Order: sequence, then C-alpha cells, then structure tokens
Amino acid sequence: MASSPTHFLNTKAAPAIPPHNVLPFQRPAAGTGDTPRIHLSPPQLAGGEMEAVAETLRSGWLAPAGPVLRTFEAAFAEVSGFPHVLATASGTAALHLGYRVLGLTPGDEIWAPTLTFVATVAPAAQMGAKVTFLDVSAESWTLDPDLLRDQLALAAREGRLPRIVVPVDIYGQCADLDAIVSVCDRWGVPVLCDSAESLGGTARGRSAGQGARLACFSFNGNKIITAGGGGALVSDDPGLIAAARHLGMQAKESSPHYQHETTGYSYGFSSVLAAVGLVQLRALEARVTARHAVFARYAAGLADLPGVSFMPEPAWGRSSRWLSVALFDPARFGVDREVVRRALDAAGIESRPVWKPLHLQPAFRGSRSIGSGVAAGLFERGLCLPSGAMGPGEQARVIEVIRRLACA
Ligand SMILES: *Cc1c(COP(=O)(O)O)cnc(C)c1O
Repeated sequence: MASSPTHFLNTKAAPAIPPHNVLPFQRPAAGTGDTPRIHLSPPQLAGGEMEAVAETLRSGWLAPAGPVLRTFEAAFAEVSGFPHVLATASGTAALHLGYRVLGLTPGDEIWAPTLTFVATVAPAAQMGAKVTFLDVSAESWTLDPDLLRDQLALAAREGRLPRIVVPVDIYGQCADLDAIVSVCDRWGVPVLCDSAESLGGTARGRSAGQGARLACFSFNGNKIITAGGGGALVSDDPGLIAAARHLGMQAKESSPHYQHETTGYSYGFSSVLAAVGLVQLRALEARVTARHAVFARYAAGLADLPGVSFMPEPAWGRSSRWLSVALFDPARFGVDREVVRRALDAAGIESRPVWKPLHLQPAFRGSRSIGSGVAAGLFERGLCLPSGAMGPGEQARVIEVIRRLACA
C-alpha cells in the first residue's frame, strides 16, 4: 500500500475521472480505439482560459474578492441586463440567498413549476418552506401564467397567498415573465426567476429573468457557459443584492473584530473561476448559435419520423436551445423514450429523460400539486439529446440510431 501512487487508500483502485471532466484536448483521438462517447452537454473551453487563470494567479487575488471578480460581475451585468450582480459559489447558493433576502421563513409557502431540477426549490424546502407545484403550459414547458392567475386569485380569497413565486426558464426557453410578473404584482407576491438553464434565451425580446425581482444563473459544468462551477444572483434592486452579498460572506458586520447580527453563508465565488467565467461569457453568443445549429440538424434529421416532435418555441420566445429535447409518442413511433435512451446508450451516446416532475419525487411526497399533467406527460415522452459541441458526423450517429429504431 505504501507504494500506492494515489492517496485513495480505502479503495482497490483510484476512481476513474469521469469523461465529462476530461478537457477536449485530452480526449482519446478518434481512430485510436473505441469511438469516443458523446455526452449530453460537456463543458467546452472558449480559448484563453489558461492565460486568464495564470494571470489571476500571478496577480495574487485568489480570494473571493478583488478586481477580477468585480470585472466578472460587471461583465455579467452587461450580458444579463441586470445592473446589480452578485457572483456566487453555485446557482443553488444564489437561489438560497434569493430566498433569504426575500424574507422566506419556516412555514411560508412558495410556488414553483413542477417541471424543473430539484435545486430550484431545495433551499426553500431546507429553510422550512412548503412547496406547491404548478403545472407548465404545453406551448413553452414553463410555468403556466393562466393557471397561476386563477390559483393566485383563489389563494387570495382563502387568505393563503404564497410568499414567493419561482418561475423557471427551462432547457433554454424563458418563461413568460411579463404575464407571470403582472399577475403576481396584482397580489404583491415577489418573483424569483430560476434562469440557471437559460442564459442567452429571451422572452418578448427581453433576456432571461428580466422583470423578476431577483433572478439566478448557474455556471455549472453542463450549462451553456461554465466557470467550472459558480452562479449569480441578479436584480434591479441594489438593496437586495447588497443584502445577499452580506449574507453570502458570513454576515460580517463592519467592525475590527468579527461581529454578527445574524448568520450567513460562505457562498463567495473564487477569483480564479471568475477569470474562467469572463472568457466564457465572451463566447455566449457563439454558443447560442452553435446550439441552434445542433437543434436544426436534429429537426432536419428526425422531423419526418412518425411520432417524433420537439420542444416547442412559443411565438413570444427565443430559446437558447441549451438542450435539444425530442418527444417520442410510442403509439406512433413504435417504441417509448426509454427504449430510445437505452439504444443511444448502447451506441455510446448519452441522453436523459426530461426532468421528472418534482411533485412525483419521493422527496416532496405530500406536497400540493396543481395542474392537468402536462409536465408528467413530458417526462413520459421527452428525451434530452446531446446538445454540446459536436461535429455533424457525431450528430449523424445520434440521428442514425434513432432513425433505425423508427424503421424497426
Ligand atoms: C443547474 C441548475 C441549477 C443549479 O445550479 P448549480 O450551479 O448547479 O447549483 C438550478 N436550477 C436549475 C433549473 C438548473 O438547471
């Protein structure tokens, strides 16, 4: 054991580095062995990250503070269209701070669409809030504003309005925030928009999250741009962001000793990652263009198949197409999405079912859920296809596997 080259003393072998963490230039070259696996949305270098990181290290600013971090926040303000930005350790951390500065307390209720990743509501649930799940609209797969309007009116009559409404921009498609914010304003309910998946998308000409009291973004490895992790909380209200900044840095009061009026979190964003994020932000437009090209190739390659359709783009929205999502109707396509997923997996291609609705998750057993089952139907039939940097040849492999199933 002493000669073990690793420090993983309690395992027989050091854990393999998952392939999605392998940098593109470290991937096995094609033709040297097995065909490389095609991933759903692997991180992608924009070019220049190495130099930016080296420069930051040389500057000595490693702390979650300093000029690189400020420059990143300013650049993100520019890109997101929100004047006030707090960079955070993750998108989930940004959501947690958002719930905190909006004053969520135990026993409060929040409303969120059921079709989302667990991180949208996890911090609120951990804070002791009750979550009510609302269905999404079939036209956008985002929170249904008509359902929301009716349910808010009902809740107001019964004196049980939610403390916060949390729409989610899903797979690159922004929610109809104009409609959502206007019905929430009627009852004075603040909107915290989870835009983690949809940087680069727009609704009614406005970029993701615009109109919400607060919005959050993620720079996790699978998102459209990545810093290798990280997130942002954004607002038009400087007071909310200042409060979040205070809480995210352990709620230290300004005094020579450590003084705390409340407790906070260690949610700062590293300057080293901010340097990566700055380079990646410059690639955003090109990434959106590339994701649209991927979607267009799927549409061209699969749309003629019976029982295959795609995530719709409503007339009022412009999706970033972060992920291309196809629906398989087993009655017409012949097999269900799980058969498609397994066939792709066997061919070395990663795909994933659409988010399992949160009201169906054991973690939220007993939560209230309102709607007609749109989200549940999307989970049954929807499959997210590889949508990252992919040559047309690689994408042709994906299309080919699906076409063969249709003809079988
Ligand atoms: C990725 C994601 C998050 C969380 O972001 P992290 O940076 O991974 O914490 C939150 N909500 C949604 C909808 C996401 O897809």
